[in-house]
Amino acid sequence: MAGHRELDQMRLHSQDVRQLCQVGEDDDDTDFLALSLSSHHPSRPPPEIPQPVPPRTGRGRRSSAQLPVNETVPAPYPWATNRRAAVQSLNQLIERQIFAISGRVQCKRCERLYEIEYDVREKFIEVGTFVVKNKDAMHDRAPDVWMNPILPKCRFCEQENCVKPVLSEKKKTINWLFLFLGQMLGCCTLEQLKYFCKHTGNHRTGAKDRVLYLTYLNLCKQLDPTGPFDR
Ligand SMILES: [Zn+2]
Repeated sequence: MAGHRELDQMRLHSQDVRQLCQVGEDDDDTDFLALSLSSHHPSRPPPEIPQPVPPRTGRGRRSSAQLPVNETVPAPYPWATNRRAAVQSLNQLIERQIFAISGRVQCKRCERLYEIEYDVREKFIEVGTFVVKNKDAMHDRAPDVWMNPILPKCRFCEQENCVKPVLSEKKKTINWLFLFLGQMLGCCTLEQLKYFCKHTGNHRTGAKDRVLYLTYLNLCKQLDPTGPFDR
């Protein structure tokens, strides 16, 4: 009996390690965890499962200090990078001949789902110029036009201010550049914007207008790292 309990504890331990490997994944992918929990059956040993390589820091809370490892994700778009909330600079995009930035939208009236695209050079000049002109007057807060974005006109039913961007459920696959170019970042929730700021080095909590302002400014900086977009 005692031997059995020990075995169970050991198995519990390896489960523990697997759970710890998940620490730091702050997106909403908990599927793995749920799977590893439900597949654990206490009365029967699992068949020939290769032992997981223990993390270098061993067990304990320290593994959450390894967050940077989880910063890398598969680039969700050709204009994104493998870092969360990071896009390529305008120079990189031009070098790679990526000019059209597309994203999914849905009409609030006729409910058609389709894609629209923006020319990154044209739109960045528009947004960047707006930022440079109005930055001082903004006082670190997003203006109304960013908080309540004017939406595009529907291509099908031709209703003005009517197509909203379809936001990815997973934060790591949000189409940040598309939302930025269409000046529709205000359609994101505060939680989504905080995620963006957290992964771009602005650990800022605050009202939506402040977090939204930082998101716009940071994306300007990502596109044009030497431009006049410092805080
Ligand atoms: Zn429509």
